[in-house]
Amino acid sequence: MSTTPAVGEPLIQLEGTSKTYRSGELQVTALQPTTLRVDAGEFLAIMGPSGSGKSTLMNVLGCLDVASSGTYRLAGSDVGSLSEEELAEIRNRRIGFVFQQFNLLASMPAWRNVELPLCYAGVSRTERRERALAALERVGLADRSDHRPGELSGGQQQRVAVARALVTEPALLLADEPTGNLDSTSTADVLGLLAELHDAGRTIVLITHEDDVAAAADRIVRLHDGTVVSDRSNAPRAGLHRAGKVPS
Ligand code: ADP
Ligand code: MG
Repeated sequence: MSTTPAVGEPLIQLEGTSKTYRSGELQVTALQPTTLRVDAGEFLAIMGPSGSGKSTLMNVLGCLDVASSGTYRLAGSDVGSLSEEELAEIRNRRIGFVFQQFNLLASMPAWRNVELPLCYAGVSRTERRERALAALERVGLADRSDHRPGELSGGQQQRVAVARALVTEPALLLADEPTGNLDSTSTADVLGLLAELHDAGRTIVLITHEDDVAAAADRIVRLHDGTVVSDRSNAPRAGLHRAGKVPS
């Protein structure tokens, strides 16, 4: 895959991209042919009611699932033409994932959970530990690195998951309902963290069905029955000025 595009250059380009699931006789088009461009450095929220195709879109964007038609270019590479091995490498090195259920390994302390993507990437043991601890510090959990997930609150577990998503320095951070299982204080913590990462130039796609969560993003795409029904910019946040994205 080519290098990460500069801020303002296209990172995600969907053209007529659709996804149909088949189970036996039944066919469900979870995502109708969709054309969408997301530039490097954007903070995009994808909204829509349950069943509208949000997770399907995230799975396509995250190279977890291959589109049924159309093309998907990520940083200029046509994802549809890549082998399973190349897709696995992109998922590991270019994309960070955060899920509603945290998906942490219960038997491992926080720092071991965070270093996992680096194990797959073949990074040395010493460097893995250093980078895992730095990522935990970034999410404000330096003092919890030896705690197992069961010894952490939901909000802290999700911050560990964000640290795990960041440790490879991915171009794209995909979060599917990351605050869906969190109370309002932890939700604010996680959203604040995403906003910070965005201000640092990271591209973020945040899936949610809650308006106040989507409000953290600077662009909101709405899905209904697998179709994009609206795509608009959100009121600019103060941070955008710092990131130099809004002419003053
Ligand atoms: P959302 O995340 O917005 O709730 P999904 O993308 O999960 O929506 O689902 C969109 C539609 O596709 C739903 O009708 C769902 O039942 C269907 N769907 C999702 N995944 C599959 C699958 N693996 N097999 C069959 N149908 C699926
Ligand atoms: Mg979903």
